[in-house]
Amino acid sequence: MTGAGDPVRTTCPYCGVGCGVLAFADGTIKGDPDHPANRGGLCSKGTALGETVGLEGRLLAPRINGAEASWDSALDLVAQKFSDAVAEHGPDSVAFYVSGQLLTEDYYLANKLMKGYIGSANIDTNSRLCMASSVAGHRRAFGTDTVPGQYEDLELADVVVLVGSNLAWCHPVLHQRLLAARKARPEMRIVCVDPRRTMTAQTADLHLPIRPDGDIALFNHLLSEIARRDLIDRAYVAAHVNGLDDALAAAAIPGDDGLSDADRAAFVDLWCRSEKLVTLYSQGVNQSAFGSDKVNAILNCHLATGRIGRPGMGPLSATGQPNAMGGREVGGLANMLACHLDIENADHRQAVQAFWRCPTISATPGLKAVDLFQACADGRIKALWVMSTNPVVSMPDADAVADAIRAVPFVAVTDILADTDTARLADVLLPASGWGEKSGTVTNSERCISRQRPFLPTPGAARPDWQIIAQVGQKMGWEDAFAYDTPEEVFREYAAMTALAREAGRDLDLTGWQSITTESYDNLPPTVWPVSADSAPGGRFFGGGGFFHPDGRARMLPIKAPALPVHAGLVLNTGRIRDQWHTMTRTSRSAKLNRHMGEPFLELHPTDAAPLGLGDADLCRVSSDYGQAVLRVLISDKVAPGACFAPMHWTARMSSAGRVNALVAPVTDPVSGQPASKMAPVTVQRFAAAWYGFGVSTQTLEPVGEYSALAPIETGWQIECAGSEQPQDWAALARQVLRLEVGETVAVSDAEAGTARVAIRQDGVLVGLFFAARQPVAVARGHVGRVLGRALPVSEALAGVPRGDAPDPGPTVCACMNVGRNTLLAAMAQGAASVDALGAQTGAGTSCGSCRPELQNLLATGTPPALAAE
Ligand code: SF4
Repeated sequence: MTGAGDPVRTTCPYCGVGCGVLAFADGTIKGDPDHPANRGGLCSKGTALGETVGLEGRLLAPRINGAEASWDSALDLVAQKFSDAVAEHGPDSVAFYVSGQLLTEDYYLANKLMKGYIGSANIDTNSRLCMASSVAGHRRAFGTDTVPGQYEDLELADVVVLVGSNLAWCHPVLHQRLLAARKARPEMRIVCVDPRRTMTAQTADLHLPIRPDGDIALFNHLLSEIARRDLIDRAYVAAHVNGLDDALAAAAIPGDDGLSDADRAAFVDLWCRSEKLVTLYSQGVNQSAFGSDKVNAILNCHLATGRIGRPGMGPLSATGQPNAMGGREVGGLANMLACHLDIENADHRQAVQAFWRCPTISATPGLKAVDLFQACADGRIKALWVMSTNPVVSMPDADAVADAIRAVPFVAVTDILADTDTARLADVLLPASGWGEKSGTVTNSERCISRQRPFLPTPGAARPDWQIIAQVGQKMGWEDAFAYDTPEEVFREYAAMTALAREAGRDLDLTGWQSITTESYDNLPPTVWPVSADSAPGGRFFGGGGFFHPDGRARMLPIKAPALPVHAGLVLNTGRIRDQWHTMTRTSRSAKLNRHMGEPFLELHPTDAAPLGLGDADLCRVSSDYGQAVLRVLISDKVAPGACFAPMHWTARMSSAGRVNALVAPVTDPVSGQPASKMAPVTVQRFAAAWYGFGVSTQTLEPVGEYSALAPIETGWQIECAGSEQPQDWAALARQVLRLEVGETVAVSDAEAGTARVAIRQDGVLVGLFFAARQPVAVARGHVGRVLGRALPVSEALAGVPRGDAPDPGPTVCACMNVGRNTLLAAMAQGAASVDALGAQTGAGTSCGSCRPELQNLLATGTPPALAAE
């Protein structure tokens, strides 16, 4: 692919950085050099977008109870079931669970239909799992959910404090911008506050290995020190802030942050001597039973010093999803109206109802995500519509969520894929247009609205989400209110509606676009709001006050450090890895992205692993009061003793026992309703495997047995698997695992050693290879995958390693350039002593740059970064 012809300018559909993308007709993807978020850069996930837009697995027609159906019959059924439930049981008997993957136009209509026409606020979004605590913190401090600063503040700051954020893996382009700024200004300092020594921590100047949920104690100590050193900005506080004294009194009560005195003092000194300071925070702050208080403890420090809304200073919440911010803006959360208006405010409700000319408006907040699925479980919800998200994998207590969805009498699911863990539970499946086919807008973490533009034809009968929602609204009897022909009509209405926010003295103002022409909408450049006729777009908030509480002043809150529970056993922290996105329904389609970490794993400290008899690459069974998982063991001192870490991406489609959120309790922050996904008490036991297996096949594979994990490779699929009972017939097992019923099978086994090697050929060509042993299988996995489809002698294929004259590159570090650990170590042995030198010699890190922190780590330690077993 070369990227010939004129590209379409669009936006990456993954994280909240919101990078601009140039999409070419031949599938080539490049970073948009003119987009302000990424200035041409893309991370590994964005770079691989072209590999994820194929039609394999796509849902191409509506289905009712598994059978293809017409759009009319599917939409009639959805409308009828929702209307019947509302008529019989009232508006609160139905619910929408939507997604930060939706475009703003989709979100706007879903909210309008539920809150304005159905008359319930039972619409919540998977953004609840991601940044609801930031929203709550903003609203408590500022009066609205306003992001004060801009990305460039990260580059203008002298100190950047990253709290609960593995920016290097979860928002890689922002991290690359940060590292580039430090390279240009070596005096700049990066602090990482995180219980784990993540890849981000390894690139920081100071890592504070805080105890889980120790953030409030740390920032309260900081606030006390700010006061003690007389660094409170008295003029700013007098003019713009309430609550200082109470906040200081609460902060004076000591808490336990788990840090050494030296680390804490170094942090406080840096903070206090650097006016230009940004605190960026993410899921480690938000996904906590104290998430909202953590956010306000951080905001207190910025408000007390007036370090907010000015170049190079302020708090910044990094959103997880591409359009989490757009959802916040149009009321996608159950406790908010559209346009940052308040559902509890009768004037706001009346204004919204008059604008929509709707028969009713919900007067009370709806069910937040965890409560919503609880209501499904106990029979209160009679009809549920899940749009473009996979709660059976992503919600805490995920097995119970699956049961809850099964308990709902009628379930509709909109998705681009026919087979997700959640789609399997639907009565009606509605095929949505995919990323490359959709037209609309998204808002990123710095309030920048960008266009998503289609560059591929919509396949089959798929339709855009806004259209599906509008058509259901019409079929429920509101023909005129949902009569839209294009997404820009929806956008114009939304922009006009922000006049209500403006009149109510709120921040969100897009009135400059309320009459936007189709041509201007098509050509809309990335724009930071507010956008009005009488002011220039963009800019920061609050540098000169102007908060959105009725008195125009901010609030510092009295936040007390909580008494933290002491767990006798291990505590599981869940999170993300570099090359997967959420429930991997799309990123798992890219062979390139699966090279980095191909299995669900548990990172465990050596002192915890040893008494359990666990070694690297063993398997373990992880249990909690809520569920179980079987995961590959990764021994690592990057987690603290007593803690362990597992990624949340793996689904039932891609693993037999890797759904980590099944282990997590449905505990939420009492203010925001955001689940505490990073503090799950678990027990870990050795999984007594009688055999371990690794195979590759030209067939599309399915999870099998007690442990298995799948990944696509360039030549087909690979599978890691294990069992607790010795099979009688290795050849038969290999055929079953590899889904190859025909073909010439050659099996070599050694009963005493417990090893087996099986090759399956069709017409002389290798279509399957399977290796088994009593220990984790030691073959060169990349090499075995490359052998597939070739007419090699069986003996050579069954060797499982390259011939002596062909070096094994080892497990992949750089996914873009496909450079393995062994290749990098060889380059280091030949004198490559810097990231750039490694790049020059091997190509690693020279494309998207997402692996550069890992290259740095490899150079610093001489040992490989944490990788799946090879
Ligand atoms: Fe997409 Fe990566 Fe940019 Fe996030 S950082 S928007 S995943 S390219």
